[in-house]
Amino acid sequence: MILVTGGAGYIGSHCVMRLLEAGKKVIIFDNLSTGHIETVNELKKHGELEFIKGDLLNIEDIKKVFNNNIDAVIHFAALSLVGESVKEPLKYYYNNVMGTLNLLNVMIENNVKKIVFSSTAATYGEPKYTPIDELHPQNPINPYGNTKLMIEKMMDDFDKAYGLKSVRLRYFNVAGADEKARIGEWHNIETHLIPNILKSVFDENKTFNIFGTDYNTKDGTCVRDYINIEDLITAHILALEYLFNGGNTNFFNLGTNEGNSVKEVFDACQKVLNKNINVSTKERREGDPEILVADNKKAKEVLGWQNNKTLTDSISSAFEWEKKLSGKIYAKN
Ligand code: UDP
Repeated sequence: MILVTGGAGYIGSHCVMRLLEAGKKVIIFDNLSTGHIETVNELKKHGELEFIKGDLLNIEDIKKVFNNNIDAVIHFAALSLVGESVKEPLKYYYNNVMGTLNLLNVMIENNVKKIVFSSTAATYGEPKYTPIDELHPQNPINPYGNTKLMIEKMMDDFDKAYGLKSVRLRYFNVAGADEKARIGEWHNIETHLIPNILKSVFDENKTFNIFGTDYNTKDGTCVRDYINIEDLITAHILALEYLFNGGNTNFFNLGTNEGNSVKEVFDACQKVLNKNINVSTKERREGDPEILVADNKKAKEVLGWQNNKTLTDSISSAFEWEKKLSGKIYAKN
């Protein structure tokens, strides 16, 4: 049985879908603060899934989950808005760091010693060189990145002392949705580029803004590495296999090795939708590094991972999902 924390959220739900489709038994533990019960209900149609509503800050909630026979944990549950983390660091340190500490505590008590953890390129901070490999120094520039780095360090210490084996997957920019549009990215506060472009098409009250056109890049807009959600999930499955095969604690970048500017992504969206999309340009958004691109060699070499999907694939699947989602939301109004 695999425990997936945060399985009702964007990335977690895609992982649960893949596990269920592979015939694995899964428990989702999620407080539904940002995840959705509708997502869980969809997932339940695809395999043997138990949903437990609970909070990582409540250790008794976690203990109950471990009455089940858990073989490994995939840990997604976290708050992940960079701007919010600057304004409310207390909330971030409590939720992400304390929550994970509680989880690891109960894991060790129950002798469950395999965890795949959703880390982030934000642990690297301002890039010193590009593409970023795993040896790049980790100096986060915001509380969100700090919480994820602290957790990585906790995991190292817990390996030395208690034999906890972790694989930390450092995501670059995750994009796209389930190929069949059964689930997808669904944030009540949407800050991400592709969904915001798409939302501006579906919702006449929303305008898409490009944040900053004066960066030192090919066209003046920020460059990011957009990794498709399905490819990203494949790495989680391989990481789990790696741990079950006796692999040691390790960490990997998940990206494509290629960067696209905001303008390029915008143009690609117009092409996929076959539509001119309105856009305005705004000041730079605070805390945005100019370029973030992953060197993904290590994940390929050690995990045997491949990224197969293109930016267009991600935009197309995100578009299909957004159509469905906007239908749901606007139907209520
Ligand atoms: N961005 C933008 N308009 C938006 C959302 C994002 O111009 O409505 C830009 C943002 O400034 C950054 C890039 O798109 O340069 C990717 O931002 P996102 O929030 O998707 O991911 P991040 O790289 O911050 O994790």
